[in-house]
Amino acid sequence: KKPVECPLDKNELGSNTWSFLHTMAAYYPDKPTTQQQQDMHSFINIFAKFYPCDYCAEHLREDLKTNVPDTTSRHNLSQWFCHTHNRVNLLLGKPQFDCSKVDERWKDGWKDGSCD
Ligand code: FAD
Repeated sequence: KKPVECPLDKNELGSNTWSFLHTMAAYYPDKPTTQQQQDMHSFINIFAKFYPCDYCAEHLREDLKTNVPDTTSRHNLSQWFCHTHNRVNLLLGKPQFDCSKVDERWKDGWKDGSCD
């Protein structure tokens, strides 16, 4: 096991970043203003330019060409990030996440109370 407080490797960076992205989507407004929707589009596109894993960022930029972010509501943005993450999971041979459970995982906690 590595000592604490080392620079992140690609997987640690990935898992911490997904935590941030899914949590950000979980708290995005239900009814965002036009400005908020535009800002979220800009955020995602700029994020994809600077994400500090070159080939991950390259994959994301390719993905964004055909999968335009849906920033029209909290639900739609959360689903969009979930499906985007699932495409990376597919690429890496990881299991698909059930996107109907995204709020339990990232906002409300599991229905069995295991996060309480
Ligand atoms: P992660 O995939 O990091 O997931 C963390 C947690 O999120 C999981 O434990 C699960 O509870 C939850 N989760 C899983 N899937 C979903 C979902 N679909 N929706 C909601 N929650 C979910 N790695 C590469 O090798 N090549 C790449 O091209 C690449 N591209 C990436 C692009 C981006 C934008 C990001 C943020 C990361 C990328 N990564 C890439 C890293 C990769 O996605 C993983 O983060 C890394 O492999 C560590 O995986 P993990 O098993 O810890 O779980």
